[in-house]
Amino acid sequence: MQDSHSIDSQHYDVAIIGAGIAGSMAALLSSRAGLQTALLERHRFPRHKVCGCCVNGRAFQILKQADLESGLRQLQPATTSSLAVRYLGRELNVPMPTGFAVSRRTMDQWLVDEAIASGCQFVDEVTASVQPLASESDGAPPEITGSSKADHPQERTIQLRFATRHSPNGTTACDDENAASSNVQVFAKVVLVCDGLGHPSLQLIPSFKAAPEAGSRIGLGAVFPRAAADAWIRQGEVLMAVAPQGYAGVVEIENNQLNLAAAIDPSCLNKSNSPLDCLANIFRSAGVPMPHELQHATIKGTVPLTRSARRIAGHRLFLLGDSTGYVEPFTGEGMAWALTAATAAIPFVVSAIRNGWSDELINRWQSSFNDMTCTQQKICRVLSATLKHPWLLPPVMTTCQLFPSLTQRLVSRINRVPKAMEIV
Ligand SMILES: Cc1cc2nc3c(=O)[nH]c(=O)nc-3n(C[C@H](O)[C@H](O)[C@H](O)COP(=O)(O)OP(=O)(O)OC[C@H]3O[C@@H](n4cnc5c(N)ncnc54)[C@H](O)[C@@H]3O)c2cc1C
Repeated sequence: MQDSHSIDSQHYDVAIIGAGIAGSMAALLSSRAGLQTALLERHRFPRHKVCGCCVNGRAFQILKQADLESGLRQLQPATTSSLAVRYLGRELNVPMPTGFAVSRRTMDQWLVDEAIASGCQFVDEVTASVQPLASESDGAPPEITGSSKADHPQERTIQLRFATRHSPNGTTACDDENAASSNVQVFAKVVLVCDGLGHPSLQLIPSFKAAPEAGSRIGLGAVFPRAAADAWIRQGEVLMAVAPQGYAGVVEIENNQLNLAAAIDPSCLNKSNSPLDCLANIFRSAGVPMPHELQHATIKGTVPLTRSARRIAGHRLFLLGDSTGYVEPFTGEGMAWALTAATAAIPFVVSAIRNGWSDELINRWQSSFNDMTCTQQKICRVLSATLKHPWLLPPVMTTCQLFPSLTQRLVSRINRVPKAMEIV
């Protein structure tokens, strides 16, 4: 069996940073395309990740086209078919195309296992950092034409910092000397940056800086058992409790568990005694009981959510998933975007490896990315603005109730697979 704490080679066709949805899907498709692929992950797997855990119709279609439907079903996800928005005791029910809800611990480990089975090398507990080219050390994007050979190397360099418990060859490192030796470099013809919000692996390259938008909310999440007292949470329903200070979604997932994901104003956290207190206030304000076992659950948080990257590609480098930016809300679109980007990026990667790198790929990836995400991100920005000003919700809820076909068109737009997308 492959050791997930050691690195076999120093040279790869493709190095993928981050084993979330974007990274593990890209690793799977890259390996299937016959490319020598390394998937590098900071945390020990499997790991919890703050997420609403709803795999929407679009995400499901992409998994199905990649022949992953039966694998997904084997995880025994709960199915979802409606969204219930609750605000000040009012309720809006929106039917949705059938989707699935499964914890990210289970889902991401499964995709990583599929990538390994396709031939990818997976290494966890390693923090990766992309090393800047000479022209990338200042804030300005490098010139595409007329650069020296040194600025157009055949491979990119990635610095790896292993968790102190492990050294690169897989032995246990206990003292400072060994810990220092656990810093190694790997080289790849193409790097896929899939490391989530704020893309920490690019922090040495200032032109990729992605600051959070002013007023951005932060995420909170927890997974806990469903208690008998939670019978009011209907099966198949994504319940969203909305309040002025944020909103919290609850859904049933595999093994009779509930998943909670919330987006809240940081000021609400500062004013509350604890994250639990803050969530309790949101449920109270929405007129919804708090799930029973939430009080005993570990609640995790995120960095500020809404941000967009100034650049999403560079020399031998593509950004995918949340590393390109993220827009609230979270009714299933984040994972769908990550899967879409991973699938759409592979033909670019294959072309770069087989035909040689061309900086033209940078512009082509940018325009392909815009085609795939723009409309949906616009819809999410409107929804997100509505949720930030919940006094807008009652008229929106009334409009949705009066014109259900309009609501359905919006929902199917979010769930649609972009035509431009090619599956390898
Ligand atoms: C509160 C909340 C609720 C949400 N609800 C939903 C939902 O219901 N449905 C949905 O589809 N989407 C939802 N989303 C969005 C979804 O979680 C993201 O869009 C999705 O996880 C993006 O996947 P990713 O692979 O780009 O990034 P991530 O899943 O964030 O994966 C990034 C990975 O990179 C690793 N990493 C980071 N830095 C390094 C480094 N330097 N070296 C190596 N590894 C590194 C991280 O440990 C992580 O495992 C929600 C998000 C939030 C915050």
